[in-house]
Amino acid sequence: MKRRLGYLEVIAGPMYCGKTEELIRQVKRATIGKKKVQVFKPAIDLRYGRDKKLYSHAGHTFDSEMVKSAKDILPLVDKKTDIIGIDEAQHLGEELVEVVETLLSRGKQVIITGLALTFDRKPFTPIPTLMAIADRVTKLSAICMLCGEEAVYHKRVGAVHTTASSLEPDPAFIAKLDDAVFQARCRRCWEK
Ligand SMILES: [Zn+2]
Repeated sequence: MKRRLGYLEVIAGPMYCGKTEELIRQVKRATIGKKKVQVFKPAIDLRYGRDKKLYSHAGHTFDSEMVKSAKDILPLVDKKTDIIGIDEAQHLGEELVEVVETLLSRGKQVIITGLALTFDRKPFTPIPTLMAIADRVTKLSAICMLCGEEAVYHKRVGAVHTTASSLEPDPAFIAKLDDAVFQARCRRCWEK
């Protein structure tokens, strides 16, 4: 029997561009199509609390498993899984590239979301590398919070608060906190 070819899609862009929303849309469709889906997210992403779901800014959710590092993903992947989603992959570092290559060699479809750039416009490892080896790259933009143009960057406009509290943070509160710290900006307004 011929083995299936792996397929990698990277959904990249700045904060607030709807990356997680797009991932949730795709995995929900796949589930309707009777595909077996597993979604992972880094344990560092505590913005919406410590539960295991993906949350989009638009309020959609999908079940996911939390991993502390990229190498934790492979042992958790079921043989029967068709599609593996990895959200906020910029937190999983360079070693994610090898993990993704392994999944692809096993014929899996992998969908990754991540920030292509840091808030100071530096390439955000490992997303640019994954974009280079991807079959398909979906680059999303946000809306500039100053002028309404297409925003390909996000900028830090306040101090970063940690949410490493043992309390369950209220999602709405944490989202507001995020918005106070980072803003989507277009090329022109990034300099301001
Ligand atoms: Zn602007």
